[in-house]
Amino acid sequence: MRSIVLLGSTGSIGTQTLDVISTRRDQFRVTGLSASGGNIELLAQQVIEFEPEVVALAKASAANQLQRALYDAASAKGWDQGEYRLPKLLMGPKASTQLASSGADVVLNAITGAAGLEPTLAALAAGSTLALANKESLVIGGRLVTDAARPGQIVPVDSEHSAFAQALRSGRADEVRRLILTASGGPFRGRTRAELTDVTPEQAMAHPTWAMGRVITINSATLVNKGLELIEAALLYDVDYDDITVTVHPQSIVHSMVEYHDGSTIAQASPPDMRMPIGIALTWPDRLKDAASPIDWTTAASWTFEPLDDETFPAVELARRAGKAAGTAPAVYNAANEACVDAFWDGQIGFLDITRIVGQCLDQHLADGHVADEGLTLEAVLAADAWGRTRAAEIAGATA
Ligand code: NDP
Repeated sequence: MRSIVLLGSTGSIGTQTLDVISTRRDQFRVTGLSASGGNIELLAQQVIEFEPEVVALAKASAANQLQRALYDAASAKGWDQGEYRLPKLLMGPKASTQLASSGADVVLNAITGAAGLEPTLAALAAGSTLALANKESLVIGGRLVTDAARPGQIVPVDSEHSAFAQALRSGRADEVRRLILTASGGPFRGRTRAELTDVTPEQAMAHPTWAMGRVITINSATLVNKGLELIEAALLYDVDYDDITVTVHPQSIVHSMVEYHDGSTIAQASPPDMRMPIGIALTWPDRLKDAASPIDWTTAASWTFEPLDDETFPAVELARRAGKAAGTAPAVYNAANEACVDAFWDGQIGFLDITRIVGQCLDQHLADGHVADEGLTLEAVLAADAWGRTRAAEIAGATA
């Protein structure tokens, strides 16, 4: 029986993780759940159903609402109030970090954005296996995160990196020639820059193959998500940036590939369903039986691959620059993007402004002298994160 702490339980990855666990109670025990406080009813239902010992809430102001919702959810289940034992409640911005350090067998970090960094470091320090959906924490923390992890302690939840992990079992590290990172291309694949000037957040949210949270869906439309994944892959598997190729595969069946030095390429393929990588992350290095449905080979299908249009979607090449510069540069790439996603969502800037502003912030940060890997500290990362957000918001404000 593995004990699981799930951070970001009310989100897209969080709810799918609980879906995987719900039919396997003999294998997993949920000992902690965390959320920001944006969907208290759902969190209360999860608490009643999975009976964690600890619940962490980032917004302390939502605690009373959670207590009331817990009683409501308990009585809706027909339980007398007296029979129900409330979990311990942690509150405030550090609550998820505290929960992450509780020493569970597995901490699955499905928080969205840079807020996941300190929980990631706490889970690693506590010795838990870190099942990592929150790629932002690895991207911005860089070697702070990789140095804190023992070999194999971080297990990716991202389908692409799960594919790499699986395909890398086919050969030795010194036999790997390159990683091929697949991208669906998002809802705007095939469009020119001119055709993207006026696209709306609603159009950007219409992802063709995956149903995900807001930030990652917009990031999939701009290809910033692929940029973050490029950095994630380089850090997780210690591969040079020039040895990672992005290819567009609109069907999202081949989740990524590893090319070996004999000319062989090993691909991992399965229908687009996050329960597969979530399942293997929870049980790594073993597979979780029936985690998701396999490919149906009785119906005809075509899988296509095409090069990425870097002119229309500059996000991947910007990430390559940030990743090569390392240190605090990826934190600025991510922070400026998170601020721009909010500004785009609020109608303040256009779709193409997102990567334009991210590029401007990155240029300025590198010109001003970023902190390189050698001098990297948590304080430097957090300062770069704050600077990236503020600078991007300033440029966005001047654009509006
Ligand atoms: P969602 O927006 O759907 O969910 C985010 C979750 O994080 C919610 O539970 C939210 O709580 C919680 N949260 C936000 N801020 C905090 C905070 N400060 N402290 C504690 N909890 C917080 O995101 P997704 O599930 O789509 O994505 C989560 C992560 O997984 C991202 O890093 C994303 O890139 C990655 N990922 C997602 C995939 C997907 O298919 N969705 C695929 C691969 C990776 P609340 O509901 O209360 O606001």
